[in-house]
Amino acid sequence: MNHISHWIGGAERAGTSGRVGPVFNPATGEQSARVDLASAAEVAEAVAVARAAAGQWRSASLSQRSAVVFKFRELLAQRAGELAAIITAEHGKVLADAAGEVARGLENVEFATGVPHLMKGGFSEQAATGVDVYSIRQPLGVVAGITPFNFPAMVPLWMCATAIATGNAFVLKPSEKDPSAALWLARLWAEAGLPAGVFTVVNGDKEAVDALLAHPDIAAVSFVGSTPIARYIYETGTAHGKRVQALGGAKNHMIVLPDAELDAAADAAISAGYGAAGERCMAISVVVAVGEIADPLVEAIAARLPRIKVGAGTEAGVDMGPLISAEHRDRVAGYIEAGVSAGAAVIADGRKAGDLPEEGFFLGATLLDNVTPEMTVYTDEIFGPVLSVVRVRTYAEAVALVNDNEYGNGVAIFTRDGGAARRFQFEVDAGMVGVNVPIPVPVAYYSFGGWKASLFGDSHMYGPDGIRFYTRGKVVTSRWPDPGTSAIDLGFPQTR
Ligand code: NAD
Repeated sequence: MNHISHWIGGAERAGTSGRVGPVFNPATGEQSARVDLASAAEVAEAVAVARAAAGQWRSASLSQRSAVVFKFRELLAQRAGELAAIITAEHGKVLADAAGEVARGLENVEFATGVPHLMKGGFSEQAATGVDVYSIRQPLGVVAGITPFNFPAMVPLWMCATAIATGNAFVLKPSEKDPSAALWLARLWAEAGLPAGVFTVVNGDKEAVDALLAHPDIAAVSFVGSTPIARYIYETGTAHGKRVQALGGAKNHMIVLPDAELDAAADAAISAGYGAAGERCMAISVVVAVGEIADPLVEAIAARLPRIKVGAGTEAGVDMGPLISAEHRDRVAGYIEAGVSAGAAVIADGRKAGDLPEEGFFLGATLLDNVTPEMTVYTDEIFGPVLSVVRVRTYAEAVALVNDNEYGNGVAIFTRDGGAARRFQFEVDAGMVGVNVPIPVPVAYYSFGGWKASLFGDSHMYGPDGIRFYTRGKVVTSRWPDPGTSAIDLGFPQTR
């Protein structure tokens, strides 16, 4: 059986803790690998190597650093297919979706190649007589990334490209459920010429995470995962004096106004609700049908459901793969049961889908109508192929529903009315808004992040916020006086 270890000092390193975790192929239900789970001592060793490397790396010139990122970008673009296959084998999403994940991650690498421009400071000549003032941004040192199972390549790429380009050493603790993509990225960084120790992978679970959160040489932590853990990471990391950005879970609404283009809205609900089997933090999980569009919309979504082909992500023609684990599939099925018991109308029940493969962690698409805000299918993040329809009478009720929700990651409105869309963008409490776009993941030169319980911390991830997060500002006030003009002056310096 495949054994997945750590990546420390530019090479694979077998674990010494004696603890391992199982990795499955979700399409067959079989265990495909064992992954080493690091102890606190192994984390400390990895951080020490990263710290030594960080000192050298920050001295590399901007053009040397960006040349490595350019090379990494070229290799990643050439070998994207290899990485997509690794993602599908451990996560289960269909190959085309895995390729899409890699393509979006690649955009973050492309953004980071512009680091010489992105790290430029400001300069004020003659701020006071004979005095110039300028600002520079410098890397933090060693920074850590802790990532979720659902984007085993893209989320690490959100973080590492910017962290490394700005001159930090980056320690990644990927999800223990699908860790192979991280090791593949480590090898690619090495091939691109990144010095040993600048990119590190420590595999592990809570023990490794806690060791990173408490380690004095970790300057900042980027986290993406579920809300309870995001809150814990933020509170623990900041209590240890670290800069933390912790992105959490979501419950994304798609509001459909009565004037929306019906077929486009139904297509979008299907694509965004069931893509990656709903295991996306930007998945649509609630369709808010406003007024008289509800009946035709539910009918149009239901009519499309039989077209979703469920199966192994490697099979041609398959649209939706399995869930990540048997436990998670059973949890999602439990939510469907809870929705039924609470009185939701079942339009399609994924538990009873006829053509599911026998092995593997599969569940068909579920569509629930007449869902109300107190039902757990509405309140909780399900993270599976379950779409709930909430019916409201007016636009105002729809916005109030979204704004009262605990989460504020993504949200979308479907309408032909530009004024309504403009008003919605102004009023809605969410970090990422789509207008006739169901999954509004920002392009790499903006930043990604939700509001409310979807993000703890002050900065969003990647893009301009990423540059700021992985660097700190320094302002230099400088004077080159004529020695003849020097004099003692105990007054507070004034800008004259
Ligand atoms: P998770 O919170 O279970 O795990 C995320 C990471 O935290 C993993 O590396 C895991 O090993 C670690 N971890 C888990 N339990 C821990 C604990 N008790 N103490 C310390 N570390 C712990 O999340 P997941 O199931 O891997 O991923 C799915 C979740 O991630 C969903 O809630 C989804 O919405 C969220 N997500 C959010 C975004 C976003 O951008 N906001 C993006 C992707 C995923």
